[in-house]
Amino acid sequence: MAERDDNEPFEESDESSEAEFWPNYAPVPVQFHSFLEEGPFAKCTLCDETLLEDGTQYLIHKAFHREEVIFEYAMCLPCRAKMQGELSVESIEAINAYMEQYEIEDRTGPMMEAHGTDVSKWLSHCLVTGAPIAEAEEYHYYAFCDGPDLVFNGLPIALAGNADEELNELLSQKTRDRLDGFVDEQFGLPPELRKPIKGSPVFI
Ligand SMILES: [Zn+2]
Repeated sequence: MAERDDNEPFEESDESSEAEFWPNYAPVPVQFHSFLEEGPFAKCTLCDETLLEDGTQYLIHKAFHREEVIFEYAMCLPCRAKMQGELSVESIEAINAYMEQYEIEDRTGPMMEAHGTDVSKWLSHCLVTGAPIAEAEEYHYYAFCDGPDLVFNGLPIALAGNADEELNELLSQKTRDRLDGFVDEQFGLPPELRKPIKGSPVFI
């Protein structure tokens, strides 16, 4: 019986397979740690459900004004489904159609090949405008996680502030009101910080 080559731990037994050569996950990197918790998000921001066990999937969204975190949450999938249920179908379809044109999932292979799990490379440019995030006043990071790991599945992505505005214009008034309410309820932000946040695409 042939021994497995330990240098290729993730290769399938079929040698011709080009599937997953690298693991498509890595421990949640510091870019997606919670500013408030000073470490990985341990619980859902909305329902307090614990997140760090394998198999618990959740989204992280962090918003920045230059270097400063102005907004952050981790949201478990049941909370996400609940929130989406409160939004208009038209808005969700508009968001999905808008994001689809950027073929987020298709970037996974080339990005993994070029940069592996170096998250800073995945976040270096706005997905929508292509502008360097380092030059953006406001920007957003999004990631999909599973327990202690960040999963590379098209996400993580970065969006510059002006990309948000474009997306916001697609949303119905009802949805915008609901998202603004969500931000107000959950984060109680000082008014001077609200403007850049309102209109953030909360869901992907
Ligand atoms: Zn939750």
